[in-house]
Amino acid sequence: MKNIKKIYLYGNLKMNMTRGETEGFYKEFDALAKEPPLAEAMGKTLEAAVFPPFTSLCAAESASKTCTPGLAPILGAQNAWFEPKGAFTGDVSLPMLKDAGCTHVILGHSERRTIFLETDELIARKVKAALDAGFVPVFCYGETLQEREGNKTFDVISRQLKALSALSAAELEKIIYAYEPIWAIGTGKSATSEEAQEACAYSKNLLAEMGVKSAVVLYGGSVNPGNAKELLSMDAIDGALVGGASLKADSFLQIYKGYAGI
Ligand code: PEP
Repeated sequence: MKNIKKIYLYGNLKMNMTRGETEGFYKEFDALAKEPPLAEAMGKTLEAAVFPPFTSLCAAESASKTCTPGLAPILGAQNAWFEPKGAFTGDVSLPMLKDAGCTHVILGHSERRTIFLETDELIARKVKAALDAGFVPVFCYGETLQEREGNKTFDVISRQLKALSALSAAELEKIIYAYEPIWAIGTGKSATSEEAQEACAYSKNLLAEMGVKSAVVLYGGSVNPGNAKELLSMDAIDGALVGGASLKADSFLQIYKGYAGI
C-alpha cells in the first residue's frame, strides 16, 4: 500500500442507531478493522471517525474500549449548542459531549441549515465554541441544486467559508472542512469526481487566502464503495463524510478498501 495518501473516512450516522445497534456496529467494525491489511492502514493511511446520535454516544464510547487497541474509530457528535450549560431545552453542550467521549463535532450540516434553519452566523459561533472547548469541528458547507444550476456554487462556498473569517488562521487550520453539495446528500446522486475536485480545490484556494496553510477538505454526498476510488483519488479531496453507506461497518470500511485497492 505504498504511495497512498491518508484518507479521512467520517461516518455521519444521523438519526439512526439505538445503543444496541451502535454496539453491533462497533463489533463488526473491530472484526473488519483488525484484519490485515486494514489493520496496518488504521491510524496511518486511514483515519476513521463515527458520529452517532446523542443517545448512543455513551454506548459508542464503551464499545470503543472493547475494540482492538488503536483500531477504534474517533468518536464525534452531530451537533452542539455553543453555550456550556443552561436553559436550552432539547440541546446538548460541548462540555457534555466531551464528557461522553467526543473529540470531534459536525457543525453546519445541511440538514441543520435547511431543516433547523441554522444560519452562517450561528454556525460560526458554534465553531468558535467548539474550538475553544478543544474540539475538532467538522464544518459542512455546500450549495443547493438551484444554486448550482444558477452558477452560484462558488459564491455559496465563498459565503459559507468566509462566515468563519473572524477566526484566526491557527483556528481555521484546526477545522476539518466537508464540502457537501445538498443535491448529492442522501440522493444516491454523487457529484462527479470532477465536480467534487473543482469545489474542493476552490475551497482550498479560498482557505489559503484566509491564511490556512494546509486545509483538510472532505467530500460528502452519496459516497459509497462503488464511487469511492474515483472520488478519493482526486488530489483536492482528503476523505469522505459518509451518511447512508456508513450505517454498516462493512460498507463504511469498503469505501477505504475500494480506494486503497485492498
Ligand atoms: C451526509 O449526511 O453528510 C451525507 C453525506 O449523506 P449521504 O452519504 O447519505 O449522502
